[in-house]
Amino acid sequence: MKTLIVATRNHHKTGEIRAILGGSFRFFTLNDFPDAPKVMEDADTFAGNAAKKAMELARWLATDQTHGQRLNASLDYVLADDSGLEVDALNSAPGVHSARFAALEKSENAPDADNNAKLLRLLQAVPTEQRNARFRCVLALAEIIPSPGMAHPQLFDGTCEGRIQFGASGANGFGYDPLFVPEGFSQSFAELGEDVKNRLSHRAKALANLQAFFSLR
Ligand code: IMP
Repeated sequence: MKTLIVATRNHHKTGEIRAILGGSFRFFTLNDFPDAPKVMEDADTFAGNAAKKAMELARWLATDQTHGQRLNASLDYVLADDSGLEVDALNSAPGVHSARFAALEKSENAPDADNNAKLLRLLQAVPTEQRNARFRCVLALAEIIPSPGMAHPQLFDGTCEGRIQFGASGANGFGYDPLFVPEGFSQSFAELGEDVKNRLSHRAKALANLQAFFSLR
């Protein structure tokens, strides 16, 4: 079984990725590599940030065999996720700044509650029919091979259309889930729960593309 190192410390993202990919891989996360370099997410696209995260971690892992030996595993792939919310009425903001929307001037991640409060405040006067939004996810898959042979990562994307409701509801998920109502539903992702979210989310669609890639190999 191939190993997949998910390049995140966000346990919600890891949980969704594991639930969808199931038993096809042996999983590790950045929590298994506490010394891993922190990657600056300074690209202006999801694809740019996902590729950067995947390549930098894959390079770091490839330069030192002891990373795998310590875990008694051969390290095969890094998978990085960069994702966020685009709101039409805000010219696609917060976009790549989704995680730090309420702390843009400090360039550091803000608590989900602060990001959600800011979004609701900015959309206060925006009527239902203009509250369309979408989640986007780009996954970057990098093979861990000794440099200089490192190939560019393979990218997979997924989008989930919906709208932003007028207040938060539901206790599942993370990030903007309590505000986001996917198209065709009347409840938020946080109310619908993980089984529904993992069938229709942006991440689920990007992961389906990744699975198709592996099944064609
Ligand atoms: P990243 O970890 O830099 O990719 O930031 C992603 C940010 O986008 C998160 O902190 C959330 O605010 C938002 N986000 C991405 N995916 C989801 C999701 O599935 N549900 C809710 N919010 C999400």
